[in-house]
Amino acid sequence: MTTDQIRGHQPILEMLQRALSRGRLPHALLFAGDAGIGKKRVALSLAQCLFCDQTSADELTSCGECASCKQMVAGTHPDLISVECPPDKAILPLSLIIGGDDHRGREGVCYEMSLRPMVGDRRIAIIDDADKMNAESANALLKTLEEPSANYLMILIASELDAILPTIRSRCQLMRFGRLSQEDVADLLIEQQLLDSAEQASQIARVSEGSLNTARQLLDENLAALRVNITRILGKHPFQPQVFSQAVMQAIDDVGGNTAAQRKTANWIIKFCADFYHQALQIAAGCNSGLESDSIRKFVAGIPGEPEDQIEIIGNLLDRMLQTEEEIARNATIALCIESLSEDLRGIQMK
Ligand SMILES: [Zn+2]
Repeated sequence: MTTDQIRGHQPILEMLQRALSRGRLPHALLFAGDAGIGKKRVALSLAQCLFCDQTSADELTSCGECASCKQMVAGTHPDLISVECPPDKAILPLSLIIGGDDHRGREGVCYEMSLRPMVGDRRIAIIDDADKMNAESANALLKTLEEPSANYLMILIASELDAILPTIRSRCQLMRFGRLSQEDVADLLIEQQLLDSAEQASQIARVSEGSLNTARQLLDENLAALRVNITRILGKHPFQPQVFSQAVMQAIDDVGGNTAAQRKTANWIIKFCADFYHQALQIAAGCNSGLESDSIRKFVAGIPGEPEDQIEIIGNLLDRMLQTEEEIARNATIALCIESLSEDLRGIQMK
């Protein structure tokens, strides 16, 4: 992974470059920001730049050709220690930090970081999901952080910065990552061959909130079908509140009794609706990107009045969606939210 393969995060890359050229890269970095925006890619890329045999250590570049670069690409570099929380665990296992019961102190990140570099001039540890460490792991790691040596670099990655102990935070240089742009997410979906249509990629990117993880979830067939159905209902004139609320409640029932999953589905639906109205607003204002579907164009054309009137109506519909998003975030009862939303959507369109 080289830095020119990284999407977005220009401020972070510049910060790292400045630190390298001054020879002042801290011994511990804390990469914080939403999940799925590329924090680990930047960490791996930084590690590759530091390990590369061909480029100078004060530059944020790597050749991609040397033995170290090849080992980084293959994930086999002996001086890179990389751990993360397994998908089926809520807590980063302590054994990854200080070794399992049989190998306590003889395995894990803390032990590995006490060793001399095997091939290069430093060892680098990447601790992904550092926000999922329990207090015991954090305290063990703290000891390692308190004894920095010239030949190690520790990169902690966290999406929930608040979950990192202040004692850990204070020993790391914090770097806050911003979200990706919609264009970057759309390009990444194509680049990583998750989709081959630019139109679909852009549709998904618009509701991805700048996260490739979120975009990946949206590739789910059921979710895609739900989006098509909901936007079809929204696009019909006159708007039918019962049809809308029934479709929404059916989709929520379909996920089963888990309230967190229900809330998530409700959230997706509201996002799909908000995106629909957002695109409609752009079309009404004459500033569309050319990727909108015909059904949204028809919907706009079916709203009576001059473009200014249409813009006002669609703006009100969009505001009402954002209001529902907040209600659901505040744990309001979903069925009640959707019922009053449906009636209000009709009311706004009947004005
Ligand atoms: Zn190289």
